[in-house]
Amino acid sequence: MSAAQPEREPLISFVTTDYAGITRGRSIASSSYAPGKGKSLGWVPANMSLTPFDLIADPNPWGSSGDLRLLPDDDARFQFSIEGSATPLDIVMSDIVELDGTPWVCCPRSFLKQALRDLETETGLSLMASFEHEFQILNAGWPAAPAFALQALRRADPFGPALMAALRSAGVEPEVFIAEYGKDQFEITLAPAAALAAADRAVLLRETVRELSRNRGWQCSFAPKTAVDGVGNGVHIHFSFRDAKGAPATYDAAQPGGVSAVAGSFVAGILRHLPALCAFTAPSPISYLRLQPHHWSSSYTWFGDRDREASLRICPVNRIGGADPAKAFNIEYRPADATSCPHLALGVLVRAGLEGIRSKLSPPPLFSGDPALLAEAERQALGLKRLPQSLSEALETLLADATVCGWFAPVAVETYTGMKRMEMTLAGDTLDDAMCHRYAVIY
Ligand code: GLU
Ligand code: MG
Repeated sequence: MSAAQPEREPLISFVTTDYAGITRGRSIASSSYAPGKGKSLGWVPANMSLTPFDLIADPNPWGSSGDLRLLPDDDARFQFSIEGSATPLDIVMSDIVELDGTPWVCCPRSFLKQALRDLETETGLSLMASFEHEFQILNAGWPAAPAFALQALRRADPFGPALMAALRSAGVEPEVFIAEYGKDQFEITLAPAAALAAADRAVLLRETVRELSRNRGWQCSFAPKTAVDGVGNGVHIHFSFRDAKGAPATYDAAQPGGVSAVAGSFVAGILRHLPALCAFTAPSPISYLRLQPHHWSSSYTWFGDRDREASLRICPVNRIGGADPAKAFNIEYRPADATSCPHLALGVLVRAGLEGIRSKLSPPPLFSGDPALLAEAERQALGLKRLPQSLSEALETLLADATVCGWFAPVAVETYTGMKRMEMTLAGDTLDDAMCHRYAVIY
C-alpha cells in the first residue's frame, strides 16, 4: 500500500491590489466558492494605509474601526496551472465594497470601472489596453550573457515556456517573451484586452512570474530599479479605442502621426496632468531613479512618434502583408512601473484622457529630438515639462492639481498621500543600492 497522500483542500483567493501595488486578499476552500451567490469576505479599511514596508501609516483616516467586504467578480476568476506549484493558483479579482455592496471610496478596481463607464457613456468609446512588464531574476546564479542574446534566453530555459503555459492555462494571452537589455532582465507582453481585464491581467502576470520564480528558488523583481546604476524595469501601458460598433478608433491616416482626433484629445489630457499622474504610476522613491533622460523610460511631458524616450509613444504598426494599420495602432504610456496598482494607474489615465476629450483639447504636437539638449525656454515653448524628480515632488504636484484630486473622494487622497509619505519616511532619504534592494525584494 502506498503512503497516504496528505489531504489538501485547494484554496481560492479573493484578491485586491491596493494603493501600494501589492496584491492581498483572503482565501476559502475552492469547493465552497459558489459563483453568482454574492459570497464575500471581510476586509479592513486601514489595510489601504499599509505601506510596502508592512507598517500602517500613522496617522491614517481609518484607525482600527470599520468593516468592508471583498466582493468577487465572478467573471474574473483565474485558475492557473503553474509548473512546480503544489496546488493550483486560483484567484478571483474582487472589489472592495461597503457592507451594503456599494463600492468603497478607496477601491482601485471600482475606480477604474467607474472611469471606464464614464468614458463609454460620454464618448461611446471603449478602451483596450495591455500592460508590458520588465522584470529581473536576482539570484539565479547564471553565467553572464549578452543583452537580448539567445544565450540569455536559453540559460533560463524552461522558464519562458513554463511562463507561457502558465499564463495560457488561465486565459491570459502571452505574446512575446524576450531576454531584455538589463542584467538577467526579461520582458513579456500580453495581447490587448478590454481595459478592466488588461489591468487584472497585469496583476496576474506579476503573480505568475513570482510563483514560477519561487518554485525555482529564484527571487524575481519588478522594482523600477534593482540597483542605482542598473537598467530600469518599466511597465508600459498600451491603449487604443473601439467605437460603439467595436471598430478601431485610434487611427486616422490623415492626422499627424496617424492619431485620430479623439485619441489626440485623450493624449492631450494625459499630457496636461502627467506630472501629477506620476504620483500614481511611478509611486515609489526609486521610481525617480528610472525616470531620467536617456534611460528609455521617459522624463518629459513628451508625445513622440516611435521614440522610446517619449512619455507617450505612438507605437509602430506593421504593414507587412497588407495588414490594416487601424487594428493594431496603439499608444504607449511609459512613465509607469510595477510599484503602482494597475487599476489605479489605468484609472487615472482614463480620467485624464476623458478630461482632454471633454475639453476638446487639440492633439499635442509631436516632438522628436532630445529635450535634455534644449534650453529651458525652448522646452517650454514646445510644452516639454520635466516630470517630477522625486516622489515628494510628484505628491506635491498631485496635491496642486485640483482636477486630478477631484477624481477622488478627499479621504482617498488623504489615504494615498498619507501612506506614501509614511513610505518615504520608512525608506529614508538615501537613494542607494540598499534602498533599491529593499524595494527589489518586495516587488
Ligand atoms: N527598461 C526601459 C524602462 O525602464 C524600457 C526599455 C524598452 O524600451 O523596452 O522603461
Ligand atoms: Mg522593454
